[in-house]
Amino acid sequence: MTSATSGTRDLYAEAVRTGPGAALAKRLGLPRPAVLRRHADGQPLLAGPVLVLTTGSEPSVFSTREAGGALASVLRGAGADTAPVDSLEAGGRLGAVVVDATGAARTGDLAALGLALGPAVRRLGPSARVVVVGPAPAAAGDPEAAAVAQGLEGVVRTVGKELRAGATANLLRLAPGAGAAEVAGPLLFLVSARSAFVDGQVVEVAAAEGLSGGATAPAGPPLEGAVAVVTGAARGIGRATAQVLARQGARVVAVDVPAASGDLAATANAVRGHALALDVTAPDAPRRLVEHLRERLGDLRGPGDRRLVVVHNAGITRDRLLVNLDAARWDAVLGVNLAAPLRLTAALLDAGLLGEGARVVGVSSTSGLAGNRGQANYAASKAGVAGWVRALDPQLAAAGATANAVAPGFVETEMTARIPPLLRQLGRRTASLQQGGRPVDVAETVAWLAEPASAGVRGQVVRVCGQALVGA
Ligand code: NAD
Repeated sequence: MTSATSGTRDLYAEAVRTGPGAALAKRLGLPRPAVLRRHADGQPLLAGPVLVLTTGSEPSVFSTREAGGALASVLRGAGADTAPVDSLEAGGRLGAVVVDATGAARTGDLAALGLALGPAVRRLGPSARVVVVGPAPAAAGDPEAAAVAQGLEGVVRTVGKELRAGATANLLRLAPGAGAAEVAGPLLFLVSARSAFVDGQVVEVAAAEGLSGGATAPAGPPLEGAVAVVTGAARGIGRATAQVLARQGARVVAVDVPAASGDLAATANAVRGHALALDVTAPDAPRRLVEHLRERLGDLRGPGDRRLVVVHNAGITRDRLLVNLDAARWDAVLGVNLAAPLRLTAALLDAGLLGEGARVVGVSSTSGLAGNRGQANYAASKAGVAGWVRALDPQLAAAGATANAVAPGFVETEMTARIPPLLRQLGRRTASLQQGGRPVDVAETVAWLAEPASAGVRGQVVRVCGQALVGA
């Protein structure tokens, strides 16, 4: 959902897309941010055919006779056209190129990958996707293989910076034991319009039980029957997250402070969910959340369709240079952004509500991960969220649940509308996609992490930042 207030509109991007503004920007070599292809009901997975390439001197991890075949069949199963590139009409544009580089292990494999990718990249259409699937460096058999696995990251992040017209590049790393079943959900998300603002990212995929491989489309919406708690849902990213989770089939419990109850009710009504007016830092907040879930939503112990998704989105800033940061500003920011997710999650765990298939999604920030002038308190809380989900995930694994985080970059909301105009322009233009994201971009990524097909995505921090120059 996009707000139309001037603070959350990118007037520069609007001015340089058409007419004299476009001509002037072209002449002066100024950035001309593309209109990104985003999810729309009923649209095809991709805007054009997908080319599947295989590189590497070792065999692909996909146990099919034809290496890369498993990826192609996942894509075809989701409706993509995997026609060979030479069958493209003259001037025809690819919707995506997917590279199976799981057999990349020798130094020369990196050059081979680059040389194979180059001609395909030339044929990419607007908002096209490059997804490389490679091995995890930590699992490599020898130092050269580890170097090559890591080298893939350099290629992918660079390609992300070179692509234009809304195209993105991302890397999926397969941990030992992970195969087509685990990679299917992440691959389909990354090639889809839902990942419009996810660019230059590396996501590790672990082995997971009970996944079918995505070659057959699920019968209903992926979150059907799931209950999703979204904090900070009265506006911005939280409201968009409630909407996307509901679109994907979840019953939403929208949480926000009592002072925002008007907007909160609007969110809850829009998604036909529940509103729970609750300050997440209140001493009784964990108890009240658990009671609400038990009384209103019944048994959420899983498996399958009675599973809980918790999105800790509520967040605040209280910016000052470190030398001017008083205790109240430290306490307020750490309390909402970090202590509350920890306390609420601990209570849900104690109550046995984070069972089979449950998902905890934290909301970090690229400012937190990279550090940002005037935000020592915020950065502490948001880097803390990243550390927390990494440590929490193994604790949840025994129950069959996962923990991950999204780290938004510059997203057009009321929070960023308060940033001084020049800094706002800088935040938008320095990303590879040359624009800010929309709340829905973060929401789509959260919803993907919540889906059953993401069971192999564990303890990851996925930036939704258009490959921001800082903190990406
Ligand atoms: P926003 O200020 O528009 O919305 C935040 C919501 O959280 C508000 O509705 C607010 O009432 C609610 N909230 C605040 N304190 C609360 C509390 N104690 N209990 C319950 N609800 C509370 O912010 P946004 O831009 O939508 O950001 C959402 C999240 O994304 C935050 O965690 C933020 O730090 C993070 N984030 C945003 C950006 C961005 O560019 N907008 C970038 C990185 C991270």
